[in-house]
Amino acid sequence: MFESLKKKFSGTIGKISEQLSSEEEEAIKEKESKAETTSIPDLEVGKKEVTSPKTEKKEDKTSGKDEEKVASGKEKVEEIDGEKKSRFSFFRRKSDTEDEDTEDADKQDKDDSKLKTELSPDEAAAVSSKDQESDMDKESEKEGEEEPSGLFTFATHKTISEKDIDDILFELELALLEGDVAMEVAEQIINSVKEDLVGRKLKRRGDVAQFTREALKKAISDILVVDGPNLNELVQQAKKTGEPLKIMFVGVNGTGKTTTISKIADHYVKAGYTPVIAASDTFRAGAIEQISHHAENVGVKIIRHQKGADPAAVAYDAVEHARAQNKELVLIDTAGRMQTNVNLMDEMKKIQRVVKPDLAIFVGDALTGNDAVEQARKFDEAVGVDGIILTKADADAKGGAALSIGHVINKPILFLGVGQGYGDIMEFHPEWMVEQVLGD
Ligand code: GDP
Repeated sequence: MFESLKKKFSGTIGKISEQLSSEEEEAIKEKESKAETTSIPDLEVGKKEVTSPKTEKKEDKTSGKDEEKVASGKEKVEEIDGEKKSRFSFFRRKSDTEDEDTEDADKQDKDDSKLKTELSPDEAAAVSSKDQESDMDKESEKEGEEEPSGLFTFATHKTISEKDIDDILFELELALLEGDVAMEVAEQIINSVKEDLVGRKLKRRGDVAQFTREALKKAISDILVVDGPNLNELVQQAKKTGEPLKIMFVGVNGTGKTTTISKIADHYVKAGYTPVIAASDTFRAGAIEQISHHAENVGVKIIRHQKGADPAAVAYDAVEHARAQNKELVLIDTAGRMQTNVNLMDEMKKIQRVVKPDLAIFVGDALTGNDAVEQARKFDEAVGVDGIILTKADADAKGGAALSIGHVINKPILFLGVGQGYGDIMEFHPEWMVEQVLGD
């Protein structure tokens, strides 16, 4: 079920992880090469920082030697190996523990500004940028983030930018559209993921995959969670009040409407209730026989008239029967019709006027993707839909309709049909679907 949707999401998680880890690796390499090749001014600064005027004088005397050493950064590193700590304080100062010599740090600050005035513009810029980086470290400390120690601290703190993920999310949007996800739903998912990810700091390897998965889960959960009726509560209430719950089922032919009504009947029989079915599809040849056969199979009473009879009258009789027999649930079949057929739509409205069903449930075939969503939209406009049952989810790899339909008409999916047997129906819970398409 929904394998293709799952594949798309895991592909996106993989691509974003790959993109960002290669970016991060580059950032680390850049830092490394900077540290190797451009450390000379830093070394000079570092060296000067800890050098007393007396020593400077001494160095001046040996200036010839010093020039030689400046020419070789490596030699320079070795030479002042003992001073590494103060030199690296550009990187580490803000994350040092409070136990460290704060006086030295203060002195260093003063020396830094003094030195900046003595440095060439390029060198001064290098010092300033390091100061900024130190400030960033400080900021992240403020946020209470754990600081990995070491030279390349902020290289591993990549912040996700829009540029990092834009192309990948655009690809995902196209893939979702191809997978029959409604345009507005695909757009909402992309925007929500982008909003969640951009600006997030990556502290450890694996963070990006986890963040992306979380962002997708949130986006999809927001799409799927739609307020609506709780059938179980309503049936319970009907049992208490003695007034049956009346549900009218609508949808086009062949979607599995008759089978679904029988599955619902079976579901509530097993839950201890006594449903009755109204064979209000008096239009289609064989429809009455078909639903009667199902009713018999699941052991439920059916109220039927002749073919061509008034569907509203059949529904009325079924409600009267339920009231008389203390049955809690009336399930009204209606003629499967195209949402564009005005006469048949009017017939359905007549049922509504006569028996005032508590709920209208749209039955749609998951395999028809966007068509199911469009049908739901039209039925909602015509008769007002309260909930959705999607059939054939067991055979649906795409998952586009399941993801989109509830959001598009702002009504929840109540059940999924998951096979041809009467027991093949499951209550729909958004968190189940999220797990289904984004579970590990
Ligand atoms: P109706 O014309 O809308 O009443 O459709 P039917 O109830 O006659 O169902 C049409 C076909 O779809 C039948 O062969 C059913 O067995 C099949 N069907 C219905 N629901 C499901 C389902 O959830 N999964 C699968 N795989 N088939 C289903």
